Amino acid sequence: MGRVNDTKTALVTGANKGIGFAVAQGLGAIGFTVAVGARDDARREEAVERLRTAGVDAFGVALDVTSDDSAAAAAAAIEQTTGRLDVLVNNAGISGRTDGGAQDPTTLDLDVVRTVLDTNVFGVVRVTNAMLPLLGRADSPRIVNMSSNMGSLTLRTGPIMAAYAPSKSMLNSITAQYARRLADTNIIVNAACPGYVATDFTGFAAPRTPEQGAAIVIRLATLPDDGPRGGFFDDEGAVPW
Ligand code: NDP
Repeated sequence: MGRVNDTKTALVTGANKGIGFAVAQGLGAIGFTVAVGARDDARREEAVERLRTAGVDAFGVALDVTSDDSAAAAAAAIEQTTGRLDVLVNNAGISGRTDGGAQDPTTLDLDVVRTVLDTNVFGVVRVTNAMLPLLGRADSPRIVNMSSNMGSLTLRTGPIMAAYAPSKSMLNSITAQYARRLADTNIIVNAACPGYVATDFTGFAAPRTPEQGAAIVIRLATLPDDGPRGGFFDDEGAVPW
């Protein structure tokens, strides 16, 4: 992949580790300035330093996706630093507690459902809507929502997790709604599945590397203007809804 011509800026949420960090590094490697969205100051600064050491033009943005105020402040910080946003990767996500049958549908803990939705779905809406004015200033804006094939109603894959899996189904549905709403604009929105990736999220017990998981995200973040809209993709192509 060639370097981006003009300097473009990408915000990656939850970029301090895991797949988000690999997305930040990968976008940085092809010439993006990367806004490292992370909620914890120390973890964010450490990630920014690691990216800079790797040659990436990175800056930190304080961002807790569960807070409207934090999303608004993050947008203001990016506006001040780069004036616009070319790519938004909504990567931050949580699995939610599973102890005591918390995600067994027959004993489902609705507080866990609320917590997971607040990050995995409402967080995406908060951050996206805060960033849309900045994305609207870019020539070819792209939004990539980090989903999972566990959210596929067709595949029904992975363990039974009645908070996490439905959160990704809803994220897919919201992605389609954004794509419809933005159909007559230059903003392209898609959802990505990274595959089963070794991160904290999976206890590092998974076959794929964060870089492998990041590849589809980077592809969707750099789609040409006639690229697909409102789809759900992994490395192999379209994932069934
Ligand atoms: P990690 O647990 O390694 O990383 C998750 C990231 O999200 C961390 O940076 C974390 O920050 C951040 N985060 C969580 N809550 C918030 C919040 N409220 N505000 C800001 N940041 C937050 O997981 P992965 O890298 O594996 O997962 C990244 C995404 O990929 C998730 O959306 C996940 O659902 C998805 N995914 C992962 C798969 C896998 O196999 N690993 C498979 C399919 C999808 P902090 O360090 O502060 O907690």
